[in-house]
Amino acid sequence: MTFQAPKGTFDWMPPRSERALAVRDALAGPVRRAGYGYIETPAFEDTGLFSRGVGESTDIVTKEMYTFLDKGGRSITLRPEGTASVMRAVIEHGLPGGPLPVKLWYSGSYYRYERAQKGRYRHFSQVGAEVIGAEDPALDAELIVLAMDGYAALGLTGVRLLLNSLGCAQCRPAYRSALQDFLRGLDLDEQTRQRIEINPLRVLDDKRPEVQAQLAGAPLVTDHLCAACKAYHEEVRALLTGSGVAFEDDPRLVRGLDYYTRTTFEFLHDGLGAQSAVGGGGRYDGLSEMIGGPPLPSVGWALGVDRTVLAMEAEGLFEAVPTTVEVFGVPLGEEARRVIFGLVADLRRAGISADMAFGGRGVKGAMKAADRSGARFALILGDRDLASGAVQLKELSTAEQTAVPLAEVVDTLKGKLS
Ligand code: AMP
Repeated sequence: MTFQAPKGTFDWMPPRSERALAVRDALAGPVRRAGYGYIETPAFEDTGLFSRGVGESTDIVTKEMYTFLDKGGRSITLRPEGTASVMRAVIEHGLPGGPLPVKLWYSGSYYRYERAQKGRYRHFSQVGAEVIGAEDPALDAELIVLAMDGYAALGLTGVRLLLNSLGCAQCRPAYRSALQDFLRGLDLDEQTRQRIEINPLRVLDDKRPEVQAQLAGAPLVTDHLCAACKAYHEEVRALLTGSGVAFEDDPRLVRGLDYYTRTTFEFLHDGLGAQSAVGGGGRYDGLSEMIGGPPLPSVGWALGVDRTVLAMEAEGLFEAVPTTVEVFGVPLGEEARRVIFGLVADLRRAGISADMAFGGRGVKGAMKAADRSGARFALILGDRDLASGAVQLKELSTAEQTAVPLAEVVDTLKGKLS
């Protein structure tokens, strides 16, 4: 019997897997340089954290969570997103009692039972950042700028930023009921009618054309913002403009999680087809209280690693084939194998990437392995070389070969590769 990766999942295999690593590094770079601290939380949490934190009426909670009882009878859920866990950890560790805001970033795997298709997986990877415990439009703008800087560092030119404000506890209720009045008059299926009563903003996010067609005249949240929300949003916009970050106002932008307030944004890439969001986030001033914490206004984002790789591939970035190692050892005989093994270890300790032929292959097989490795240099060691205490250093592209005393190999290669 053989096995395959479960439906909706896939393996990152070399050399393409290098792309995932490169994307994670590049997306994390700007937040790390901005002084955000690294946080790692468990891949699973008590189910209640997500049902309360993400929201009972969201697709994530109603349809997409991987939930199970552990052997102790606890209801556990594989994390479908990062923010609720980070907030839980911040509250649990008492950080709200210290200096605020707390700025954190993370990187990891997330799990949602979604309808699998290109760019939408049941196991995917995100880099996220959260600023917890402060309300300042400069923080919202800072996060957006840092995300855009991450995409730019990867060479991406096709990322668009959509921006909206969802209002606050003061102005959202009036908008919500205006929207409900409008939606109740539409021709919608039973499930969507129920959603109108629980979470009407989510209806705006319905992707079905027959629903979208009816939404043309829906009231817009931006027409219902209170003075404070309006001023806040204007300041975010001004700061973005001042930092040279272009954005498109999208008064219909809502997000799939219940906890968002005020600033909401999404990063889209047009080369991806239906699953065009490469990242998204916003302000979530109510989340802490929803999960039993003190009032902690916060803002954050999560950027999708898998889709960012797809976006880069769509833009034709990543053309260079990554070289695996710089030096490859070719031992001819048992004694030579021991010496090469030691040399390769020394090279690696000196910061030079190196590999060698394993498995007792003949000269031909070993030289083939050297070529395939992409290495610049081969170190070839036979009995005669052993007797003279030297190794043949061969530049693989030119076939030029010189004998180098064993004791000088590391320094010689350091010089040639610097
Ligand atoms: P969300 O928390 O849904 O806003 O997700 C943030 C980002 O994570 C999205 O913009 C996507 O790039 C990525 N993402 C979310 N869900 C998936 C998924 N099922 N498969 C791949 N990427 C995803």
